[in-house]
Amino acid sequence: MADDDRPKPSFFAGIAAFNRKASLKKAVTQVTKRDGSVVEETLADDGSYLRATKNDGEAKDMSYLERSASPPPSDSGKNQERPNNNVPLNPDAAWRTIASEQQFLPVPTVSTKDSLWKKSKHGSNNCTRIVCMSDTHGQHRDISVPKGDILIHGGDFTSTGEIKHIKDMLRYFEELAFPVTVCIAGNHDMTLDLPYYDRSWRRFHRKKRFNAEEGRQAVMNMMNDTTTTNTDKTKQGKKPEFYYLEDSSCTVPIGSAKEDDDDLTSQPTQQQKEGDHDSQKKVKFNPSVVVHKQPKTLSIYGSPWSPEFYDWAFNVARGEPSWKIWSKIPSGTDILVTHGPPLGRGDQCDHGGRAGCYDLLEQVQNRVRPRLHIFGHIHEGYGTSFDGTTLYINASNLDLGYDSVHPCTVVDLPHDPALPPRIVEPSCSITGDDLVNGWFRDKGYEILADVLRDSGCEGQNLPSGDELLNTAEAYWEICRQLDFRTTTSLQAKRELRKALSQLYAASF
Ligand SMILES: [Zn+2]
Repeated sequence: MADDDRPKPSFFAGIAAFNRKASLKKAVTQVTKRDGSVVEETLADDGSYLRATKNDGEAKDMSYLERSASPPPSDSGKNQERPNNNVPLNPDAAWRTIASEQQFLPVPTVSTKDSLWKKSKHGSNNCTRIVCMSDTHGQHRDISVPKGDILIHGGDFTSTGEIKHIKDMLRYFEELAFPVTVCIAGNHDMTLDLPYYDRSWRRFHRKKRFNAEEGRQAVMNMMNDTTTTNTDKTKQGKKPEFYYLEDSSCTVPIGSAKEDDDDLTSQPTQQQKEGDHDSQKKVKFNPSVVVHKQPKTLSIYGSPWSPEFYDWAFNVARGEPSWKIWSKIPSGTDILVTHGPPLGRGDQCDHGGRAGCYDLLEQVQNRVRPRLHIFGHIHEGYGTSFDGTTLYINASNLDLGYDSVHPCTVVDLPHDPALPPRIVEPSCSITGDDLVNGWFRDKGYEILADVLRDSGCEGQNLPSGDELLNTAEAYWEICRQLDFRTTTSLQAKRELRKALSQLYAASF
């Protein structure tokens, strides 16, 4: 689906790549689209992909892809040179140089009851609800996801590229059935970085090499939507869209001109745009009717790269190589998704040092200026910050110890670009007494309920109401109150994390 909308690189570039056949290996993914054409990705020795669309076995369109799911966009900043401003490569030193110029404004928020987003009908006329998750490392099933219009995953959905994690993550996305799901890879999703996995698999999987092509094929299949059978899962009966972005963009439609129009997830057909004179439909897509000439689409760009760190997948050296990667981000991007954080935003490690990328921050603040920048990678950097233009979200669901204690981050993005995005704050009426009086058991957390009962702990000593929505603190506080000296303590703790995640997701 996305393939057809993307700008095509020059045909000669494709031929040039194809002529280097000697260095090409076997096809790594092959997808049959609904129109019968076949899209085939082939990996060359230098780590680049050749993508060819074939009809009746004959190659029709070939594109040379520099380790990318789509060609670099044309309106990027790739001709812009890296500023020679003596900012050191070391992120801590770089931060000391630039920190005083950085603005940290209060993060705009909205309570769930004041939000203009309508739960009953996805896609209000005013804003799009975006739900962010990241760094789930195979534990995605323990994380409840609040409802919204667009689900974004910032990478690291596996531990070390496990194919079963990739496939189950895709299944989970299908089950969640967001109208639009966008996902990138991270440094742990190493089987998706085929050239990397080719040279590094022994380091992680000495006993058994994963079939990396199988993982990539599963992702491509889902994106091309040929093997999935659930075509009508969203409430509107529209086909959910899935995008795996790798230095590539997607454009998704938002909102509608009429309040009761629930045609959120589909683009107007050519006929509707031009030839259909039915007045109802004309109102829907006539830009002059849309108040304030609000944009009808959002552009989302995704990239899996993070600064070099002990040679993991999708690693890139700081400085010029990083600058080049971020130069590909198109200037009009509304939502930027990268695995690694920019310098100074959600990038502070447990030891106090910084791990973010200066070159990414430079491009984000001085050229791209997206409304949202979503990332993960540094688990302990979980949280949000705002510089007046961009709202930065480190959406890591796992903490430093890989416990799934951080909830998904929910943000309302107003369709009026003059208004800032707002973090949505849920509210909770469940009390500590409710927990003691059977809430966990009612929700099926039997082992946890037993431990709570046997601990003889009182409701007044447990977090209550909105305190329960500060899930990481609530988790550690309840752990302190409970007697975990049983053989089932690990299961009970896991149930507690799941229960708090469920409570959070249900509080919007
Ligand atoms: Zn990571």
